[in-house]
Amino acid sequence: MRLTLIGHMTVLVELDGLALLTDPWFGPRTWLERRLAPRILPPAFSPEEITTLDALLVSHHHIDHLDEPALTLARRLGCAVIGSQGVARQARRAGVRETVPLRAGETTPLGPLTIHAVPAEHPLASDAVGFVVAGSQSVYFSGDTRWTPALRAALSPFPLDVALVQAACAHYPFFGNDGMSLPEAAALARALRPRWTVPLHLHCAGKWLDRRAGIRIEMENADRVQAALSAWADSLRAEGLGVQILEPGRPAEYVKRET
Ligand SMILES: [Zn+2]
Repeated sequence: MRLTLIGHMTVLVELDGLALLTDPWFGPRTWLERRLAPRILPPAFSPEEITTLDALLVSHHHIDHLDEPALTLARRLGCAVIGSQGVARQARRAGVRETVPLRAGETTPLGPLTIHAVPAEHPLASDAVGFVVAGSQSVYFSGDTRWTPALRAALSPFPLDVALVQAACAHYPFFGNDGMSLPEAAALARALRPRWTVPLHLHCAGKWLDRRAGIRIEMENADRVQAALSAWADSLRAEGLGVQILEPGRPAEYVKRET
């Protein structure tokens, strides 16, 4: 399995001869998109540089997880869009021919792989899901979600090689965090013990890495964010857990587990 972070939560997953792209976000392009999702680092690749894909795997329809250039890419390459109900609707409207809407608990085959939709609790997208991509290796992709007992129960049966997890989230006055930040991502890693935990969702300004510690992603605080991530990774490694921080544009290879 090879994973290449393009940016934020957009990861090229190459497994068993197939190529999938998670939560593809190449923007922002418009003033409104820039306001909603101020990006701190441009994507490592433009959609034009991507030449083959079997599917887009999209957790929910928010702008930092699916945008127009991504749907244009799906149309150009004739690849399927697998995702939440809202994602499938948006893709159909954009002229994507093959769309596969999934609810938590449902699965769909993709060549030699099976895509399992798992629960996600993301207050501003009630149809959000996460995915486990299962083949010769298995990878969990969280999308945006709180760490919940339902999610833990859904993921427990899978021996996870890699967990791609949200590690920074928004916070709202009435319902609090809308997903996982570093403390919850650590709780997930401790509970599920994937071979590798990979923190994501780190390229949009305004998201909290750790609200209690007062660390938030901003336009110009890359060093502080990096230090917080390193300290987090070190503390998990000290507990015997595998953590990897992906560098945008640099592929990481994961060898198969010895049986
Ligand atoms: Zn998001």
